[in-house]
Order: sequence, then structure tokens, then C-alpha cells
Amino acid sequence: SLSDRLGAIFEGLRGKGALEEKDVNEALREVRVALLEADVALPVAKDFIAKVKERAVGAEVLRSVTPGQQVVKIVHDALVDMLGGEEAESGLSFATTPPAVIMMVGLQGSGKTTSTAKIALRLQKREKKKVLMASLDTRRPAAQEQLAILGEQADVKTLPIIAGQSPRDIANRAIEAGKLGGYDVVMLDTAGRLSIDEQLMTEIADIHLATKPIETLLVVDALTGQDAVTTAEKFKERVSVTGVVMTRIDGDARGGAALSMRAVTGAPIKFVGVGEKLDALEGFEPKRMAGRILGMGDIVSLVEKASEEMDAAQAEKAAKRMAKGEFDMNDLADQFKQMRKMGGMGAILGMLPGMGKMKKMVDQAGGLDDKEVIHQEAIISSMTKAERKKPALMNAKRKKRVAAGSGTSVQEVNKLLKAHRQMADMMKKMGKGGMKGLAAQMAG
Ligand code: GDP
Ligand code: MG
Repeated sequence: SLSDRLGAIFEGLRGKGALEEKDVNEALREVRVALLEADVALPVAKDFIAKVKERAVGAEVLRSVTPGQQVVKIVHDALVDMLGGEEAESGLSFATTPPAVIMMVGLQGSGKTTSTAKIALRLQKREKKKVLMASLDTRRPAAQEQLAILGEQADVKTLPIIAGQSPRDIANRAIEAGKLGGYDVVMLDTAGRLSIDEQLMTEIADIHLATKPIETLLVVDALTGQDAVTTAEKFKERVSVTGVVMTRIDGDARGGAALSMRAVTGAPIKFVGVGEKLDALEGFEPKRMAGRILGMGDIVSLVEKASEEMDAAQAEKAAKRMAKGEFDMNDLADQFKQMRKMGGMGAILGMLPGMGKMKKMVDQAGGLDDKEVIHQEAIISSMTKAERKKPALMNAKRKKRVAAGSGTSVQEVNKLLKAHRQMADMMKKMGKGGMKGLAAQMAG
């Protein structure tokens, strides 16, 4: 996998300090190959790599993840950003006088008719919208009947078919029926061609102009990869696309077209089709798509594990006590336990947003690697209850006792006490307001 390849490149770089340009370049060459294999358009891949490079060069190498993993993580985050960010904009707009017109455009066979019925069903079921569907496809034999059958299956109304009407006439009739019938939404399924042609584009542009849809959804087949991108460019020239529906994600497309799509149309991917059935439609999730493009669920899950296993309730409780200046050795022991559960101090501190500062402090206090964390837990458990509550009690005699009891040295005991003092000070300084944010970060 990509992460294995990157791992090999970065062997020996562990703990080097910062990611250097030479190493990053080498890693990004692999990333570029992976992107192209996943069907990302070349200019998009180039642009993307440049952005990632900017973020990666000079980034600090964390202790517990390999630099290769770290680059992959940076790449992953940049992909998520480029695909629309954590919060996908998968909703549709209805901000207009009803009926809100949704127009579906795309090549023949891309999945327009199926997606029309899928979306109608979803709007009717989940958003309680009253939906009317109409097929403007007068060219393909039985195209209008196809939509009528899907309408019956989904229990969504379709406009009665009148033979001989032009697409424009059908569109007008649909909107009129929508108004009269008190529909919230009118969905217009249009005709497609096997490839873009001038006549098709003029027809689409005409209907678009006449019906003023609030949403114009471009339907593209993920399996067509690069062709999907060319299609998107052509449609974008003629109608303002407000969203993309990417079908056949259930096939073995690597999803790279999704990345290009967003870059080319500037419009968000709103839905993905995941099968032939009418309920096989999902809101678009940038994170899932990014993982698919890189073929590297492992690193993403490492990061996700970090936030999952950080027990939210416990973090909040600790944060409250910290805010009151009550961060004692018991709290520190809890923190260690959680960090160990998640696979290492450096990884955790480095991964939590905003925790970089804390990591630096810990490093300055001598660093905490995983073996040390175990020692430090031993030290804490050798302390008495009173000492844990009030570390200031620790005089030379007590330190000696604790060192002997934990199988460590007085030096190590001192180091831990110093780290605790610094953390407690910082937490006090962050004050009550600051702690809320910290608690949220710790809870993930
Ligand atoms: P149109 O010509 O653009 O209207 O395309 P259709 O809606 O008629 O779909 C063409 C074929 O693709 C049909 O057999 C659909 O069942 C199938 N199809 C549509 N969307 C999906 C999808 O998300 N996954 C799979 N596997 N098949 C799909
Ligand atoms: Mg069709």
C-alpha cells in the first residue's frame, strides 16, 4: 500500500526533527502515483501535491508515528479539505417560492433517472417534502416510462406522460402542476447523450434558463474516471452546476474523479450512488472518500482511535479539576493511562489539535517516551495518597523511598515532579475559559 511505500522511504528518518524537502519530495512522488492510479486528473494532482508540500516541509517529526505515516496524514487531511472539509455540504437548498426546481443533467447512462428517483424518495422520506418528478427525455424510447415505474416503486408522483410534447413543454407543464398541486419540489430528469454535443447542451441551457432551478445536479459515473472530468467541464460552461451526484461508487472506482470534480466544477459533491436500488444513495463524506483514494484506512484509523479512546467524560472531569488548579498526581496518572492506551505519548500529543505546545513542553522537560511513561506510572503508584494529592510533600527522603519502591532513580522521580509542575502551571494559566477548549480537544 501507499503507506508501506512511504514507510520504506522514511526508514531512518524517525526522530530527525523536521521533515526535509528532499524526503518530502520523495514521499510525494509516491503520493502522486497513487493519485493518478486513483484517476485524479493530472493538473489537479499537481496542484494538490504543491499544496501538501507547503504543509509538509518543515513539519515536526512526531515520535510515535513514522515520518511516512505523518506525510500520509498530511496528505489525507489536505484531501479532506479539498473534497469539502469535515462538514460536507450534502444538503439541498429549497430557498425559493415553491416548488423548488431540481434539474438533473449528465451523460446518457450516468445514472440521472435512477438518481432522480433516489433523491426524490429521500426528500419525501427524510425531509417530508412533497415531490413531483418529470422526465424530459423525449429521445430515448421508454425513458419517461422508466421514471414512471421508478416513481411507483418509490411511491413518488410523476407527471402524467403526454406523447409528442417537447422537453420545454414538459418542463413548463411540470412546474405548473407543481404549483397547482402544492408540491414542495419538482425534479426534472433530462435527456443525455453518449457524449457531449452542441444540440444537447443548447437544449439543457434553454431548459435551465426557462425553469430557473434552485439546484442543478450534475450526475457523473465514478467508473468513467477522466471522462467524468471532461463531462463536468463541458456542462459547467453552459449551466451553473450547484452540486454533483457521483454514481457507481459501489463499483471499483478508486474515487479520484471526486477530487477532480470538486476542483473542476467548484461545486460540492452532494450525493453518492452506491447501488441500483432506490435506497442506495448516501450523503457525500469527504473523509471516507479521502481514505478510499489513498487506500490507507490504517493511518486514518490511528487518528480516529486517538479521539475515540480518550474517554470524553474523564477528560472533562480532569479538565474541571485542572481549571481549579487541582491537577494532581492522580490526574497525571490518568493521563498517562489514556495516552498509553492510544499507542504513545508523542503520537497523541502531536495528533490532538492545539496540543503541539504541550508536547514541546513535555519534550523540554526531558521528553516522555513510552517506556518512560511506564516508569512514571510506577513512580506515581509508589507515592502515598497524600503525596499524590500534594506533590509538594516530596522531600529528599520521600523521593528516595519512591525511587526504590518503583525501581527507578531519584533523578527520574525529580523529572516527573518537574513535568507535573510545568503541566499544572500551564493549566492554571490557561484558566477556566481555556480549559473548556482543552477538554473539548481531549475528548476529540
Ligand atoms: P441515465 O441514462 O443517466 O438516466 O441513467 P440511468 O438512471 O438509467 O442508469 C443507468 C444504469 O445505471 C441503470 O442500470 C442503473 O440501475 C445503474 N445505476 C445508476 N446508479 C447506480 C449506482 O450508484 N450504482 C450502480 N451499481 N448502478 C447504478
Ligand atoms: Mg435517463
